Amino acid sequence: MAAQAFRLLIAGEQVGGDRGTYDIVNPATETVVGQAPEASTAQVEAAAEAAADAFPAWSRTTPEERAALLDRAADLLRERMDELIPLVQAETGATMRVAKTMQVPTCIERFRRYARGALEPATIPLPPSEMPTTALAPGGIMGAIAVRQPVGVVACITPYNFPIVNMAGKIGPALAMGNTVVVKPAPQDPLAVTVFGEVLRDAGFPPGVVNVITGSGADAGQALVASEHVDMVSFTGSTPVGRAIGEVAGRDMKRLLLELGGKGAGIVFDDADLATAIGTISSVWAFHSGQICTAPTRVIAQRGVYDQVVAGLQKAAGRLKVGDPLEPDTVVGPLISDVQRSRVEALIAAGVEQGGELVVGGQRPDLATGFYVAPTLIAGCKPDNAAVQQEFFGPVVVVVPFDDEDEAVAVANGTEFGLYDYVFTADTARAMRVARQLRTGNVGINTAQRNHEAPFGGFKMSGVGRDGGSFGLHAYSELQSIVWPG
Ligand code: NAD
Repeated sequence: MAAQAFRLLIAGEQVGGDRGTYDIVNPATETVVGQAPEASTAQVEAAAEAAADAFPAWSRTTPEERAALLDRAADLLRERMDELIPLVQAETGATMRVAKTMQVPTCIERFRRYARGALEPATIPLPPSEMPTTALAPGGIMGAIAVRQPVGVVACITPYNFPIVNMAGKIGPALAMGNTVVVKPAPQDPLAVTVFGEVLRDAGFPPGVVNVITGSGADAGQALVASEHVDMVSFTGSTPVGRAIGEVAGRDMKRLLLELGGKGAGIVFDDADLATAIGTISSVWAFHSGQICTAPTRVIAQRGVYDQVVAGLQKAAGRLKVGDPLEPDTVVGPLISDVQRSRVEALIAAGVEQGGELVVGGQRPDLATGFYVAPTLIAGCKPDNAAVQQEFFGPVVVVVPFDDEDEAVAVANGTEFGLYDYVFTADTARAMRVARQLRTGNVGINTAQRNHEAPFGGFKMSGVGRDGGSFGLHAYSELQSIVWPG
């Protein structure tokens, strides 16, 4: 694997980085997985220009042509699955189970979904409207339609947890709607995305329609967001970076889709099925070591079940095998990097210093290599504790007690985030009542399962805009009104 050359894709050509390469490190073994190209600012600009040049012709292709290419790309991804799974696994540190069942298959599913999506109607008929005569024009019955038009060049910038899945969730709907793209994966795990770019080229997307750039620092993303050729930025990542992107993009009216940080509340009422609640919350530890923006990391437990919830979570955490992601029974793998591990450890320490009780975890597991943090539970937290307010993006659950429904809602809404909350209760009416009061883009009732057709996105500092299902197609389009006399 280390001998493979990973390349940028600019205007249909696979090229090396003008500034050489940098090492991608396996977070479990701390060995080098491969070398990623270090793109120069000029290469970023060339990629954006290529996307702008390719836009007029691509935007005029038929939906059927675009659907066929997206389907072809899904076929080629499937053919290269055996190569992609170990590569994504090695660069992300995901457990084999997550790499095999989610990282690559979900990417393929997204392309299939948006191959169908390309064929969804892009014209919305509107009822004729009777208009009086004015100084502007004679009156009459005015017909109208709203047409979804592509936005133009979309910069797709992603974080490190699900590199090709996240990218597919952006590229799929963007291409289906007739946009061209420049994609910039995270510095930590960009290798599979470069292969993904090759797959799209091989599938027959014309030169410039898809461009891939990589780099070890923030500068490649910064240059891309600032480029005059970019019409829209679709960004998934942290709230501070999203805010910085919003400031730059706002100056030129670049369209924005921002999917940012989260601090998912899991409200557990006294009447909840505790096995379900505890199982769902344990996914924070079991699913990609908590490097998931939607995870229920902030448990808000009613006092009648508080002790049982804490004891149940403590037991669950102790049962999970932490270690080599390649071993089939490993549940908790490493964090992406030493830097991220240090950040998580510092926030655990702050949480305890501010009165949280460290019930389990908090230390590095006894392993020779890897950026591991043991599954950690901090109970008895006050709502203003830093560990309750800030995002860990790691295998850490905090617990806050509450007395009544109003308090639960207030605590749940009491962070700057609003991405994904969960309600555990046997009372359906209460679940719906509480859900409607939560200032969050998504609510799961007694489950962490998703419906991929539902709109996905954040309230407050968790972002702007929605994707998911057909909403993803809408996100990558601009509405144009066409009006005529009937
Ligand atoms: P990050 O914000 O540090 O980086 C994300 C991407 O932005 C990377 O590709 C990075 O190189 C790039 N970048 C950094 N500075 C930039 C700048 N000034 N201009 C343009 N691009 C820039 O995020 P991360 O540490 O890779 O990922 C973790 C974060 O992502 C967490 O906050 C998590 O909640 C969030 N996330 C959100 C979602 C969601 O759907 N809401 C999904 C996954 C992850």
